[in-house]
Amino acid sequence: MKSDITQFLLENAKIHMEAQSSQEFVERFANLFKLYYGINRIEFLTLDYNTGIFRDFVKDWVYINEPEQQKKIGKIFEQFQKRTDIFVFNNRIFDYDLTDEEIEESISLKKPDSNLAYFPIFSAARTFGVIEIEFKDLRQGIEINREFFDILQIVFMQISSSIYNHVVQEHMATGLNFYDAMKNIAKIIENQYELEYIIPQIGEMVDRFISSHLIYIFLKDENNQFKLIWPSNCHNEEIFKMLQTVNDKVVISDDRRIGIFPINGDETKLGALVAYSTIGKLTENEIDYLIELTKQSGITIQRANVYSEVLKHATLDALTGLNNRRQFEIRLKQETAQSIRKNTDLCGLMLDIDYFKRVNDTYGHAAGDCVIRGIAEIISKTIREYDIACRYGGEEFFVLLPMTKIEDTLAVAQRIRQNIQNTKIDITEAKVKGVPYLQVTASLGINYFDKKVSPEEFYQGADKALYQSKINGRNRVTVYEESMTKTDN
Ligand code: GH3
Ligand code: MG
Ligand code: MG
Repeated sequence: MKSDITQFLLENAKIHMEAQSSQEFVERFANLFKLYYGINRIEFLTLDYNTGIFRDFVKDWVYINEPEQQKKIGKIFEQFQKRTDIFVFNNRIFDYDLTDEEIEESISLKKPDSNLAYFPIFSAARTFGVIEIEFKDLRQGIEINREFFDILQIVFMQISSSIYNHVVQEHMATGLNFYDAMKNIAKIIENQYELEYIIPQIGEMVDRFISSHLIYIFLKDENNQFKLIWPSNCHNEEIFKMLQTVNDKVVISDDRRIGIFPINGDETKLGALVAYSTIGKLTENEIDYLIELTKQSGITIQRANVYSEVLKHATLDALTGLNNRRQFEIRLKQETAQSIRKNTDLCGLMLDIDYFKRVNDTYGHAAGDCVIRGIAEIISKTIREYDIACRYGGEEFFVLLPMTKIEDTLAVAQRIRQNIQNTKIDITEAKVKGVPYLQVTASLGINYFDKKVSPEEFYQGADKALYQSKINGRNRVTVYEESMTKTDN
């Protein structure tokens, strides 16, 4: 039969071995202590060096609100910064060399002024917190003697080192997430350069990293005014007021709830990233992170602008490798002219992914991009070599089919539609946990170039037929007929 103390130490060791997070660690430890020593309460208060305020480690890191308690803990903390081989009890400082007699005498158990005891949380390098224990009525129950304090000393030293390890680990994890966010923001432009897709992605990435505050992204418009780009709404008047006063320096509001981080390009001011705290204040750490994330966002936006200049001369779309919109306009003119000149058949096929917004909203833009690329691959594989496939817009594609009759175009369109419906599009690259692939459908519209209409009218015919597919329920192919009118966009 093990003694209580052995049992307690055993349980204590188990917690050190098993706990996965600092949270779990201190919770289990508090429970163990309550069980074996019948204490009322044990709290682990760690100093937040950014704000100088103590936080409650157990209760999810909330700040201690009462200024009186902050002050009291602060004073005790100062003592522990000088020496860690002491504890505080009955408002007095003790070291561990006490004899039983001294303990009995000095602690005056018969008449304690306080049932609170304090012990340091420390590492070799520094003291970083205070453990507060509230005993039950000390005159009943626990035997307070030399051995009791020796055990506390051993246990609290172990706890200190475990908390320290957990804090360091969690700190490193934050660092890793930060570098991930930085890398991802830099990586966006590998295949996208239109700001309307880049900004939401930056917003989502910063938002995921700084999850306890709201994030907004504003860009300057032609008139040099800040225009909200992401998310779609901002009702905070204060933010708009502050934006009017910023130049190219970071501005933090007096109450530290709002931070404005100007996004600067090489020479121009591009916009601003705004963080708004609905719960507390922006900490120094968060501000530092936001400054870096904003810098990286500025570089990305600047590069995207340069890219889109360069890409004005490109013919291929960066994401899919298909012909881009500009090239499409050129090929549309060439092929319609050729069809008239040589009196050959020409058909057009337009495709739009169904409910694509949901893909972005549910799995993120990176997953959306994988799907767009997957669809482009299916289209390329299904058409013939001399058909001309283009990425017309975001998730819209157009295929020109020279020397093809409408029946054959209909067959190709149906094959594309079925292949899309049956394909599990690989999205592992987007790293969505537990979702390695997605299945989507697409709607198509096809049109025959009858040589009497303009190239634009030919294109619009396919678009109208596509629209008909959408209103008839999606995942279908419609052939254009003259009676079709498109009423919506
Ligand atoms: P519908 O079935 O009516 O087509 O519904 P939908 O949700 O697909 O609607 P719509 O075609 O209007 O939506 C297009 C969406 O595609 C909006 C835009 O956010 C998204 N999108 C456009 N281009 C890109 C892109 O390059 N990448 C990603 N990830 N999303 C894009
Ligand atoms: Mg669309
Ligand atoms: Mg769509």
